[in-house]
Amino acid sequence: MKRYIILALVLVFIISSFSIGNLVVAKDSKDTYVKIMLKNQSNVKQVKLDSSTGFSIYEIDNNGKVSKKQELTGKSIIVKLEGNGSISLYDNNDKKLMTLKTNQLITSNGNGEKLIKVEDKEYRDYITFAKNGDKLITINYIELEHYLYGVVAREVPASFHIEARKAQAVAARTYAIRNINYNRHKDVGADLCDDTHCQVYGGKAAENDKINEAIDATKGLIITYNGKPIDAVYHSNSGGHTDNAHEIWGGSKTDYLVAVKDDYSINQTGYSWEKTFSAEHIGSKLKAEGHDVGSVIDIQVVSRTEGGRAKQVKIIGSKGEKTITGEQFRKALGYTEIRSTLFTITKNGQNNNKTDVYVIGKDGSSRNANLNDTYVIDKSGKISKIEDNVNVITKDGIINLNDNVTPKNLSFTFQGKGYGHGIGMSQYGANAMAKNGIKYENILKFYYKGVKIEPYEAK
Ligand SMILES: [Zn+2]
Repeated sequence: MKRYIILALVLVFIISSFSIGNLVVAKDSKDTYVKIMLKNQSNVKQVKLDSSTGFSIYEIDNNGKVSKKQELTGKSIIVKLEGNGSISLYDNNDKKLMTLKTNQLITSNGNGEKLIKVEDKEYRDYITFAKNGDKLITINYIELEHYLYGVVAREVPASFHIEARKAQAVAARTYAIRNINYNRHKDVGADLCDDTHCQVYGGKAAENDKINEAIDATKGLIITYNGKPIDAVYHSNSGGHTDNAHEIWGGSKTDYLVAVKDDYSINQTGYSWEKTFSAEHIGSKLKAEGHDVGSVIDIQVVSRTEGGRAKQVKIIGSKGEKTITGEQFRKALGYTEIRSTLFTITKNGQNNNKTDVYVIGKDGSSRNANLNDTYVIDKSGKISKIEDNVNVITKDGIINLNDNVTPKNLSFTFQGKGYGHGIGMSQYGANAMAKNGIKYENILKFYYKGVKIEPYEAK
């Protein structure tokens, strides 16, 4: 009998553990709506709306339920912010139709898809307005899944395998939910904006049926770690190895964004690249980003990440040396020029002999000798500046250091693997996995370690 009690207790413990481990509640049948600030149509005095079937005005009640209030017959509306702060709707003849209340939404009439044009760009579901001082903020009040239709198609080719498209859909949904939780646009009553600040959203015109199919097939699912939506970052091609986020971007370690050996990305689109730049070009690009080293003499990778990326890059120039992160180097030269930091460097051409002069400090650091700033101490202790002709003995004989320190015909070739920052999911790797018969859940779990795929928590 005692044994049965123990067994029962063990069973109760196991069952309760399962429920504790699954705190995220399933989304119910009620759709979730998000408020997207349309940046190009915000902070303006008036906005034009068009609908070939006329307009309907809906109202949101205190429980978030949306119901139809009235219909407007015209095909165009001009929305204006009045001097007294009210938002008014006018027809084409500048006749006032109504005042829009803050809980009211505008959409198209009829029983078909709700589509409404805002200054020639078409959006699904509803349009509503908020105020920012004496300017209008235009907001697309849209079902989350419809919003994703206008996001995901810009981020992944429609030609991708369905499982890779699904993986991208879940990653984008996760990214959106996480951003919504940040409340970045709460001040104007929106959840997200439609540009790169949050996630680029292009409305109806950005959609693609094959992408919509993948969004529908994964409806409501996101990637979680410890029950929270992850930072679902991705890149085009890992070059054969993804990387630890903290080694590339700094900060503390993110358990699910860690280096993964990724053979799937090998020989896929974006796998390898090569680029040659003159020393002058590199010097001017670095200077523009605030890393002025004068004329570039040498570039060295001084440390690498677990995935093999250039973690720190030392640039030696006529004004001294500077060590920056691989990402800073990539940013300075351009993200599409240096496609990844998984590169090796080859130096081409010869330095002018006179520039190959370095002063080695007692701590071992090297510094190019800039003759304008160099002083010598004679045996009597007198310090004087080097001003006139200076000859030094090198392995090639005596050379004069005085005339110039500019390298001639010097260039650097970067041979790289992959495209993008290399953290999280490799998109072309994901597509290769899908073509190998791997399902989207396992693609995501390969690139994001220790995660779960589950329905997001209803707001
Ligand atoms: Zn934003």
